[in-house]
Amino acid sequence: MSWNFQEIQETIEKEASQVANLKDLETFRIKYLGRKGLVQEIFASLSSLPHMERPLVGKSVNTLRSNITTIVEDKKKAIRDRCAGIAAPLEELDVTIPGVTMGVGHQHVLTQTIDAICSIFEGLGFVVQEGPEIETEFNNFTALNIPVDHPSRDSFDTFYIDSPDPQRKGRYQLMRSHTSPAQIRVMQNNAPPLAVVVPGRVYRPDSVDASHSFMFHQIEGLLVDVDIRFSDLKGLLTVFCQRFFGKKIKMRFRPHFFPFTEPSAEVDISCYICGGNGWVAPSSSVLSSMNTSLTGEPQGCSVCRRKGWLEIMGCGMVHPRVFTAAGYPKGKYVGLAFGLGVERIAMLKYGINDIRIFFENDVRFLEQF
Ligand SMILES: [Zn+2]
Repeated sequence: MSWNFQEIQETIEKEASQVANLKDLETFRIKYLGRKGLVQEIFASLSSLPHMERPLVGKSVNTLRSNITTIVEDKKKAIRDRCAGIAAPLEELDVTIPGVTMGVGHQHVLTQTIDAICSIFEGLGFVVQEGPEIETEFNNFTALNIPVDHPSRDSFDTFYIDSPDPQRKGRYQLMRSHTSPAQIRVMQNNAPPLAVVVPGRVYRPDSVDASHSFMFHQIEGLLVDVDIRFSDLKGLLTVFCQRFFGKKIKMRFRPHFFPFTEPSAEVDISCYICGGNGWVAPSSSVLSSMNTSLTGEPQGCSVCRRKGWLEIMGCGMVHPRVFTAAGYPKGKYVGLAFGLGVERIAMLKYGINDIRIFFENDVRFLEQF
């Protein structure tokens, strides 16, 4: 029997060009390279050929086998490349099955809260700035009128490191315990008038429990000009609280002490869950239903713990020593400052009773916001 290798090669190339998937490719491979395939058939026929012809036919069939192997490998790679990214076995691919939808994430509730707060202040002319989380001892304490022997340092002391700069050896840095040092940085680099809000992470030597975390978020606000009064501070924070918590809330300012402001105050808003009376009537809202017994009797408000007021931030007029530390001329400027805890605001707004849940990454919690 004689073989026309050129014709065989042409037939094979034509057939190979019609192979579209791995299943057809396997059929093609078996047809030519299988135990009962054409190549084996040609090898088997060698013994029946005249001696003279055997070397030539043997060489041709080896070339043919090598060509078919190359065709099969190339074809397999081409099919796989074309189908890359499809998880199902290619031979079982069913293009009518609906696609796998990827879960789309969204911003963390704390980021949403920071954005909402900053956006209100941006609408009032403030600029959002950020400061470093590793601060100098000077910016974190001394410049904010908290001298070395001041007792309030105790509750603020975090991890200290010696400055890596050999020129500044012995000048300690620490993980900032509040966003207030950003006030110093902003004032050192900008001349008044200035109005900034500074969101960011802060660190405290606190044990973790339902209302404390060694890390949380604050937003600091600073407004400096030549003619700022305490009434401006009240007006500004009233506008913010009404925009954030709703027009109906009432405000009160309680005298307080902060080293870096004088006078200083803490700001309370009337509880927006119970309306300030400390009791929640049976009603439709989700939060108030948490406070209502099964019998429908009014219950004490758990958000304000029946006080009717919620403490939301600290504020005051910038202490003159802070201006001096920032390098401003004495007596020229006045300013107001305020600071609030983002977790606390989010807990109040959404009725969350444990700060730890923000950081546990439980998607069942996070996807509710
Ligand atoms: Zn209440």
